[in-house]
Amino acid sequence: MTPPRNSSAARDIAHVLHPYTDHKVHQQAGPVVISRGKGIRVWDDQGKEYIEAVAGLWCAALGFDNERLVKAAEAQMRKLPFYHAFTAKSHEPMIDLAEMLIERAPVPMSKVFFGNSGSEANDSAIKMIWYYNNALGRPRKKKIISRLKAYHGITVASGSLTGLPANHKLFDLPLPGFLHVSTPHHYHGAQPGETEEQFATRLAEELDAVIQREGPETVAAFWAEPVMGAGGVIVPPATYFEKIQAVLRKHDVLLVADEVICGFGRTGSYWGCQTMGIEPDILTCAKALSASFLPISAVMINDKVFQGIAEGSHTIGTWGHGFTYSGHPVPAAVAVETLRIYDEIGLLDHVRRVGPYMQKALRARFADHPLVGEVRGVGLIAAIELVEDKAARRNFDPARKVGLRLAKLGEEHGVILRALINDTIAFSPPLIITEAEIDAMLDRTAAALEALAVQLRRESLA
Ligand code: PMP
Repeated sequence: MTPPRNSSAARDIAHVLHPYTDHKVHQQAGPVVISRGKGIRVWDDQGKEYIEAVAGLWCAALGFDNERLVKAAEAQMRKLPFYHAFTAKSHEPMIDLAEMLIERAPVPMSKVFFGNSGSEANDSAIKMIWYYNNALGRPRKKKIISRLKAYHGITVASGSLTGLPANHKLFDLPLPGFLHVSTPHHYHGAQPGETEEQFATRLAEELDAVIQREGPETVAAFWAEPVMGAGGVIVPPATYFEKIQAVLRKHDVLLVADEVICGFGRTGSYWGCQTMGIEPDILTCAKALSASFLPISAVMINDKVFQGIAEGSHTIGTWGHGFTYSGHPVPAAVAVETLRIYDEIGLLDHVRRVGPYMQKALRARFADHPLVGEVRGVGLIAAIELVEDKAARRNFDPARKVGLRLAKLGEEHGVILRALINDTIAFSPPLIITEAEIDAMLDRTAAALEALAVQLRRESLA
């Protein structure tokens, strides 16, 4: 159906190049134009209401309206709408936010650098590590290891950290010097009979072997999300990070925790690092940092890394890195207010209550469903993975786009779902979601899943 001329949809088709969109299909199907939001819900330009099961892109932690954040932005815009942070210029919102982040860090951290997106935070952290090793006189210690299926962004360097096929070969990535080890996903990766602990030991041995093969003097850092988000909501097996960190310490390899999704309560602790027992040297965050009302990201570094960078300015030359909008006062002021709100409303305690409720409800409703291979997650992040053969843990042929079809059916049933690789459907609702709203979200998802089951039965009879 072609949208009426001059409608928002038609003008979108005519003019917008969307992120992550099949543009051939889009020329016919057009966009879903979302025009307003309230709480965990958004409405399209036709007035249809949806529950946002993924908080947009895992990010709108306070949902889709908040008067205090509007006021914080407005007040800052009136007072100082822009200033930068180059050459030691500063302003109060950035100073306040840096201080609040250091106070809240999962391990002692020293300094905070600001960017505008998760990709920029990870890119900046890569460059900090390269500069740091140059400053320390170790110019060969530059390689970076992440995991297959990781998602760390899409800029040229952060896209190299990412470990998903769609972000790599079609864009001539990864850059040289970026290596990927196995995904810590027990469901698909474990050998028959292998326990979580045995699987974790094998993955740590693999990492050790890769570092030995490359030469520890050439390996600078290991990158990990505490719970992998966009790669499929993968909760690592028990003892994984304990064993991985022992390997990293042995070889003097820095550990970077990407908290872009997990940070600020998503997993039931303030940081995913605390849920998973991770002690990072560097931590990147974004998304819920400002409840996504405005773009901002941060990189926290420990004193070891900071001292190297500080020395570098004198020994190798200026730390020539920064964005026009690093620490921009308006998003910084909104982030400061966001972190205050999280504390004042007791958001973490709320997640600790409703997170287990959502995990239990997902398992009760879907674990035994013939199309569902695995239900997984922790806190308020979860996924159901659709499979063709439950006993063999075999996914559908990707060409059948089963996950995307469920997401589309979800929209028809009033829930916005996100389909990831392997027909995995993610749940990462606004952190303010209530138990009753979780029920409504899962009712709509269940209805969409039944509609999908009918479609698939028809296809197998055809
Ligand atoms: N890291 C993680 C863990 C992410 O999930 C994302 C985005 N979903 C990014 C980095 C990149 O963030 P951005 O899209 O803001 O560049």
